[in-house]
Amino acid sequence: MKAYFSDFSVSTRSRFELVDITRQVESAVSASKIGDGLCLVYAPHATAAIIANEHEAGLLSDILAKLKGLFPEGAGYLHDRIDDNAHAHLASAFIASSRVFPVRGGRLVRGTWQNIMLVEADGPRTRRVLVEVLGE
Ligand code: ZN
Repeated sequence: MKAYFSDFSVSTRSRFELVDITRQVESAVSASKIGDGLCLVYAPHATAAIIANEHEAGLLSDILAKLKGLFPEGAGYLHDRIDDNAHAHLASAFIASSRVFPVRGGRLVRGTWQNIMLVEADGPRTRRVLVEVLGE
């Protein structure tokens, strides 16, 4: 089995934001030269997450609105006694900081309406995204 690792940075501009990282992830899969296997997309951050969904402007706004509704800022969290971002930790914990995709024929397999996105819940800041491709 071969393993290929790469990473890239994403600069977010808002407190809450969705950043489409499909192109960077697919470039990593291509560079890996791995034909069939798995691709892990992982954000090594406690206040960000990774999702796969449709990149449509209305839906992106809907997702951000739901995120803010599910994890409102400053809602009396204990963590906010030492920090101001408990809402973002909760979002990361419940959405998840990684996703795994199949790789077949040298390409990342995803649905037509599944772009890979970084979920920023405590921006703006610079985020790292790690891509690990395993296979043959
Ligand atoms: Zn914190």
